[in-house]
Amino acid sequence: MAMGRAQVQGLSGFRPPEPSSIDSVDMGPVILRAPSPDPGDSSVAGRTSILVDRTVATERTDWVSLGAGDALLVIDMQRDFMPGGRLPVPGAAAVVGPLNRCLEGFARQGLPVFASRDWHPPGHCSFQAQGGPWPEHCVAGTRGAAFAEGVKLPPTVGIVSKGWDHSAETPSAFVETDLHARLRVLGVRRLFIAGLATDSFVLATAADGRDLGYEVFLLWDAVAGLGARPQDGARAFERMQQAGTVLIGSHALQA
Ligand SMILES: [Zn+2]
Repeated sequence: MAMGRAQVQGLSGFRPPEPSSIDSVDMGPVILRAPSPDPGDSSVAGRTSILVDRTVATERTDWVSLGAGDALLVIDMQRDFMPGGRLPVPGAAAVVGPLNRCLEGFARQGLPVFASRDWHPPGHCSFQAQGGPWPEHCVAGTRGAAFAEGVKLPPTVGIVSKGWDHSAETPSAFVETDLHARLRVLGVRRLFIAGLATDSFVLATAADGRDLGYEVFLLWDAVAGLGARPQDGARAFERMQQAGTVLIGSHALQA
């Protein structure tokens, strides 16, 4: 194996996090509980579940060493999705700290960072005034569509605008964008995903990333869900894991 090839540790056999790694998760109360797998799904039996803000996350790996072929994709960290915005995502403010930790790691290694943004025309089909489900949000060029303050995106960030088609909903950052082409040019093989919202844009983007052949890692403490129902976030995590996405915490990145 060539020197510098990124290594994944602990993927072949899951081990519950060491107590020290639990202590290092800085998201407030963290409660270890007994596994509560779906009885019909033996693949989750024996794992340790971590209850964080009523969202169950299951860590699959102790740590990941970043290297060539890795890229970070920050999804829709925009003002309208933050507290005080037009469509605030619960818990979005708590994403900023872990996300910045990830951004620092990628910057240290000189690895590529992409940031997607919802970038709608006025009167977009997803707005309630047009019969859609959401209040007007992230209209291209407005203050609400700007990236959230406090997120330390690098000057070299690759911006991916989506949702610009007047009549189409595009939850995935891969749909009707050039993201895949840009990642291929850079030789990206592993995609690390953070941002908003777990149960919509993040879920759809992770699924497309897997379908396109990337190894996908979800930074579970650097995402937050819209959570129309309390269980939506946990279900999104489960669906991503079933599709092969690996859940890791921001502290698990070694850069
Ligand atoms: Zn939108």
